[in-house]
Amino acid sequence: MHAMQVPQPKGAFELVEREIPEPQAKWVRIKVQACGICHSDSLVKDGTWPGIQYPRIPGHEIIGIIDAVGPDVAEWKLGQRVGVGWHGGNCGYYDHCRRGDFFACNVALLTTGISFDGGYAEYMVAPAEALARVPDELSAVDGAPLMCAGVTTFNALRNSGAKGGDVVAVLGIGGLGHLGVQFAARMGFKTVAIARGKDKGAFAKELGAHHYIDSQASDPAAELTKLGGAKVVIATVTNADAMTAVLGGLAPNGVFMVIGAAGPLSVDPILLISGCRSVKGWYSGTAIDSQDTLSFSASSGVHSMNEAFPLERAAEAYERMMSGKARFRVVLSIEGKG
Ligand SMILES: [Zn+2]
Ligand SMILES: [Zn+2]
Repeated sequence: MHAMQVPQPKGAFELVEREIPEPQAKWVRIKVQACGICHSDSLVKDGTWPGIQYPRIPGHEIIGIIDAVGPDVAEWKLGQRVGVGWHGGNCGYYDHCRRGDFFACNVALLTTGISFDGGYAEYMVAPAEALARVPDELSAVDGAPLMCAGVTTFNALRNSGAKGGDVVAVLGIGGLGHLGVQFAARMGFKTVAIARGKDKGAFAKELGAHHYIDSQASDPAAELTKLGGAKVVIATVTNADAMTAVLGGLAPNGVFMVIGAAGPLSVDPILLISGCRSVKGWYSGTAIDSQDTLSFSASSGVHSMNEAFPLERAAEAYERMMSGKARFRVVLSIEGKG
C-alpha cells in the first residue's frame, strides 16, 4: 500500500510503500477512503507530542470500509463503513475510565495517528472500540472532518448546558467555527457568530447564524449583552485577546467553552464571581460521540466545507491547512488499490 509517513520529528513527508497491516485481536483493518488534515497532526510532524515512535503515519479524521476483522471483535463486519477519530482507545478498568472519563485514561490511552499509524494511507488498522458507524448519505470527504473538528464542536455544544432557545455564541468561523455555527443553529440555540470583518456576516447567516457580530467594528461583549448575554460561548479562535474581548458578554451562569488552542487567557475574577460564570475547556470525544456527530450532521444537513487533495499531495495539503488560508478543512481523498 501507499502511505505518507513522517520519518522523524520535523522531517519532510515521505510517500512510501508499506506492507498492508494485519489486524490483531480486537482490531480491524480499514480501507481508507478519506482522511482529514487537522492542526493536531503538527504534533506528529514537529515531534512535540512525547513518546511518538517514528516513522509515523499521521491522520485522525478517517472514513473508510472495514476490510479485515481481527479475532475477538464483536459486532463489526466486513464491508461496514466506519470512521476513526482522535480517541483510539482506553484501558477501561482504572479509576478515570471507571468514572466514564475515557479521554482522561492515564493507563492505556491510545491516540489515532500518534500511538498507532493513522489515515494518511490506503489502509490502516484500528481498535474496534475506536469505530463509529457512518450514515450512507455522508460521502467520505464530507464525513472525515466531522471525526475531529465536527465532534469537538458538536460535543462541546451538547455538553455546554445550553437549552433550546438560549443565546449561544460561536467565536470564530474558520475550520471549527463554521461547523460550530451550523450545529448551534440546528440544535435550536439562538446562534450568534462572532468574527472579524463585515464581509463574513452574510456567510455566517448562510451557515444558520441568527446574529452576526463584527468584532472589529463593535465591542463583541457589549453586543452580546444587548442580546441578553450568552449562555454559552464556544471559543474556536487561536487568539487569546479575541477570547478576552468576548468574556464580558457572558450571561449570569454563562459558560465560556474553550476549544481553540490560544496563549494564556486573562480572566477578571470579578466577572466570574459576580455572575457565577465559568471558563472551561473541552476535548473532542470518543467513538460514540463521533457516531452521534455523523448521524446528527446527516439528518440535519450540517456540511463541512472542504478542499480535497489526493494522498500523493499530502505535504502540500498539510501546508495549506497550516497556512490558515484553507476554506475551511483540508481532506485527503484516498483511492486505495484492490
Ligand atoms: Zn484533530
Ligand atoms: Zn483507563
